[in-house]
Amino acid sequence: MTSESIVSVVDQIFESIVKSKKSTPDLFIREKGEVRSVGEGIARICGLPNVVTDELVKFNDGSLGLVYNLDEYEIGVILLDDEQHIDAGDEVFRTERVLGVPVGETLLGRVVDPLGRSLDDKSAFRAVTYLAVEREAPSIMNRESVDTPLQTGILTIDALLPIGRGQRELILGDRQTGKTAIAVDSIINQKDTEVICIYCAIGKQRAEVNRVVADLKKHDVFENTIVLSASSSVPVGLQYIAPYAATTMGEYFMEQGRDVLIVYDDLTWHARAYRELALLLRRPPGREAFPGDIFHIHARLLERSAHLKESGGSMTALPIIETQGQDISAFIPTNLISITDGQIFLSPELFQKDVLPAIDIGKSVSRVGGAAQLLAYRMVSEELRLAYSQFEELEAFSRFSSRLDEDTLKQIERGKRIREVLCQDQFDTIEVVQQIALLVAVTNGLFDEMELFQIEAACNVIRANIEFEAGTISTKVKAGEKLEKSECEDLVNTINNILAKRF
Ligand code: ATP
Ligand code: MG
Repeated sequence: MTSESIVSVVDQIFESIVKSKKSTPDLFIREKGEVRSVGEGIARICGLPNVVTDELVKFNDGSLGLVYNLDEYEIGVILLDDEQHIDAGDEVFRTERVLGVPVGETLLGRVVDPLGRSLDDKSAFRAVTYLAVEREAPSIMNRESVDTPLQTGILTIDALLPIGRGQRELILGDRQTGKTAIAVDSIINQKDTEVICIYCAIGKQRAEVNRVVADLKKHDVFENTIVLSASSSVPVGLQYIAPYAATTMGEYFMEQGRDVLIVYDDLTWHARAYRELALLLRRPPGREAFPGDIFHIHARLLERSAHLKESGGSMTALPIIETQGQDISAFIPTNLISITDGQIFLSPELFQKDVLPAIDIGKSVSRVGGAAQLLAYRMVSEELRLAYSQFEELEAFSRFSSRLDEDTLKQIERGKRIREVLCQDQFDTIEVVQQIALLVAVTNGLFDEMELFQIEAACNVIRANIEFEAGTISTKVKAGEKLEKSECEDLVNTINNILAKRF
C-alpha cells in the first residue's frame, strides 16, 4: 500500500469515527490531540500544535470545549458539556471555529441554554443564523448618545433614575432585596412596545428561572422575550459564556435597528464561575482570588450594549450584582459601578420596613438617562428629589428630638407621603401619564390632608381615571412634550376633581 492510500484510508476511518460520535457534519476537523486529565469543568489536553485561543475543540463523545490556556506543553480547555463521558487518553479534535449561537426571531418566546439549545418542550430550531459569541463592541464612531427613554413602569426609576435606550444601569443589593423583581417588572412594562427582551440567568436555581418564565408568561410578554438559562447545575464553562451568548442574541436585533433590553441575573455568579475556571487552570489569582482580567471580562461584555448610529437600534443592559452586607465597595461591585452608567441600590433596611421597591435613592444614580427622560417628568423630578432627600435626613434626625418646628414637621409629613406614593407592588407597572399625575399630585400637596393609609386608595383612583380625564395633556406627556404652566395647573385641577368626585 502506498503512503498516499494509507493516508486516505486513515482519513476515511477518522471521518467515520467522527460521524459515529454524532459530530455535526459542518465542523471542519483537521488536527487531533489527546486528553491528559479532566475534571471540575476543565480538561487539559496535549497535541493540537496549531490550535488558537477561543477555538472550539471537540471531544470523542461529541461534547465541546473552549480553548482558554495555551501553555508550552499543555492546553487548558473549558468544557461546555458534561464531562462524564470524557476520559484521560481520549481523542480531541480541532474545529477551526469559534463558538457561535443561533440568533433571530425563532428564539423569541423560547428558553435556551448558552449554546442556543432548546431547554423547553418545543421543537429544536430550524435553519437559523449563527453569530460568534465573542464579538467586538461597537466603535465610538458608531455610537449615538442616549436620547430615547426606556420606561420601566417603576415610578421611582422613571422619575428619579431614568434609563435611556442604550444605557447600562446596574442593579445591586443584598440577597432577597427585590433585584430580580425590578428587572422582571422592567421586562413586563415592555408589553405593548417594540422592545425585545432577553433575560439571562446565570448560576440561578432552575426553579427560580422557571418562576421568572411563568411570571413573563402570565403577563403576556414571554412571546417577545428570550430566556437564556445557565442554571447552577450546568457546567461552569456554560455559566461563563452565558452573558456573552445572550448579548450576541441581542446584538442581532440591535444591528437591525431594533431596541433590546437585556438583563444579566446575576453577574456575581458569572464572576465566581470565571474565578473557578481561572483558578483550576492556574491563572494567577489577584484580589479576592479573582484573576487579573476580571474587570475586562465584564467591561467587554457591557461595552457591547449601545445606541447605534448606523442602524438606530439599541441595547439597554440591566446587569444585576449581589452585595454582601451592603458593601458596595467590594471588588466586583466597584468594578461594575465603574463600568456602568449608573446604579440602582436596593437597601435591606427599606425592604424590612416594607418600603417596596426598596430603592435607596441617595445611593442610586443614573448618569445618562436624564437627557432621555420625557420632558413632563422634569417639571416634578427636581422638586421630588429635593423634598425626598431632605425628608430622609430630617426623619433620621427627628428620632432624637421630640420638639420640632412647624416647617420641619410639614417637610416630614410631605416626605412620608412621597414615600407612600413611590411604594409600588411587584408586577404593577405604572403607565407614563399615571406616573406624572401621581407625581404632580404629591408635589402639589394634594395628599397633605389625607391620612397615610388612605394614599394608596387615592393613588388607585387617580390612576384609574386620569387617562380619560386629562385629554390632550396625556397626549402631550406621551409625546415627550413640555407642559406649559397653565397645563400643569389644569392637571392639578383635574386630579383634584377626580379625588373630589370619586374618593
Ligand atoms: P436573590 O438575591 O435571591 O436573587 P432578589 O434580590 O432578586 O433575591 P427578588 O427575588 O426579586 O429578590 O425579591 C425577593 C422577594 O421580595 C420576592 O418574594 C418578591 O416577590 C418580593 N418583592 C420584591 N419586590 C417587591 C415589591 N415591589 N412588592 C412586593 N414584593 C416584592
Ligand atoms: Mg434575584
